Amino acid sequence: MSHPFASDDIPQEVLGGQDFCPYIPVFGAPKIMFVRGSGTELWASDGRRYLDFLSGIAVVSLGHCNPAVSGAIAAQAAELMHVSNFFSNPVATRAAMAINSLMRDAGAGDGQVFFCNSGAEATEAAIKIARKFGGRGRHAIVSAFGSFHGRTLGALALTGQPAKHEVFQPMPDGFRYVTFGDLDGLAGAIDPTVSAVMLEPIQGEGGVVPADPGYLQAVQELCRERGLLFMMDEVQTGFCRTGRWFGFEHAGVSPDVVTFAKGMGNGMPVGAVWARRDIAAVMKPGDHGSTYSGTAIATAAVNAVIEEMKRIDACALATAAGTRIRGLLLGEPGIDHIRGEGLLLGVALAGERDANTVAAELLSLGLIVNAVNASTLRLAPPLTVSDAEIDEACSLIRTVLA
Ligand SMILES: *Cc1c(COP(=O)(O)O)cnc(C)c1O
Repeated sequence: MSHPFASDDIPQEVLGGQDFCPYIPVFGAPKIMFVRGSGTELWASDGRRYLDFLSGIAVVSLGHCNPAVSGAIAAQAAELMHVSNFFSNPVATRAAMAINSLMRDAGAGDGQVFFCNSGAEATEAAIKIARKFGGRGRHAIVSAFGSFHGRTLGALALTGQPAKHEVFQPMPDGFRYVTFGDLDGLAGAIDPTVSAVMLEPIQGEGGVVPADPGYLQAVQELCRERGLLFMMDEVQTGFCRTGRWFGFEHAGVSPDVVTFAKGMGNGMPVGAVWARRDIAAVMKPGDHGSTYSGTAIATAAVNAVIEEMKRIDACALATAAGTRIRGLLLGEPGIDHIRGEGLLLGVALAGERDANTVAAELLSLGLIVNAVNASTLRLAPPLTVSDAEIDEACSLIRTVLA
C-alpha cells in the first residue's frame, strides 16, 4: 500500500512502523518534510535547500530561527514559562505595554491588550468585545466578502466566504457580509442590530487585495457616525509586513479594536487583541479568558520580535525589499500586475496561467511561494530577505513564467 508520506524526502525512521498519515487530513498531502531553517532558507530531510518566500504564511518575519528571538525564547524557557492569570509576570506586562506604545505611535490612542495563541482566537476575542460593547440585540458584525478571520466557529462565521461555512451549518448568528470596497453596500447593511465592522487593510488569504485608503477612511467615518466599533484584522498585515507597523497606517485611520498574530511571534504561537481604553472597559472579569493568555514563554518571543524589528528597522527593510521585487518582476512576461504593500505581495499572472501549477514548478526549483488563488502568487518572504535572495527568487519566477 502506498504511504501518504512516502517519498524520497521522508526517511523511514520518521514514519516509524505506521502505514498511514498521522494527521487528520485537513491540509491535503504534505509536500516536503523540513528539518531545519535559518533566515530565508529551509532544508528538507533529503538535505535539499529551499528559499522560503512564504515565511510559514507571513509568520517568520525575522527569518527562520532568528537568533534574537530564538535566544530570548530559550532564555525564558529556563527562567519562567507560565504562571496563571491569577498572577502576572513582567514579560507579558512589558509586551502589552510595547504593543500599546506601537498603537499609540500609529495614532490609535491608548488601549489595553488581551493575549491569546492564534489569529482565530484574537478574532474570537474581538467578536466578544463587539458583542459586549453593543449589548443584547445589538450583536451583529459586518465583514467583507473575501475576508479571512480564522477557522474557529465564530471566526469562520465572520469570514466572508460562504463556501467555507456550508458544511458546518448552522453557523453562529449575527454575521453579515458586504462587498470589500463598496461603501454604499456597507452603509446599507447597517441596522440597529449591528455593533461593529471588521476589515483587513489588505485581504491576505482573499488574494492580496488592498483596501483603498479612501474606503477605509470613509468606513471609519461611517462607524463613528453610527456609533459602531471600527475593527481591523492585522493578523497578516501587522508587525511591519506591509512596510508600516500596522497596515491601517497606510490609510491614516485609527481603529477601535485591532487583532494580531502571525508575525508577532516569529513562529511562537501567539496572538493578541488591542482595544482602545474606553472600549476595553466594557470587558469585565470573567467575560473572557484563556489559560495561556500572556504566558511568559510566548510573550518573551513578542518582546524579542518588537525589539529586533525596531533595531533593524524592519518596516524600512520591507518597503525596500518590496520595491526591489516589483522592479525585478513588473513588466516581465507572464506577469499582469502586482498588488499589495511592502512584503505582502500578490503577483497576478497574465493570460490563463494557473498559479497552482506555477507554484509547484517553483517548488521543484527550490522556491517556496503560495498560490493564494488560481491566478495570483503570494510572495511574503522574511523582512530580513537579502538582495541576493530576492534576485535568486525573481530570476526563478521569470524563468518559470517565460
Ligand atoms: C491567518 C489569519 C487569521 C487566522 O489566524 P490563525 O493563527 O491561523 O488562527 C486571521 N486573520 C487573518 C487576516 C489571517 O491572515
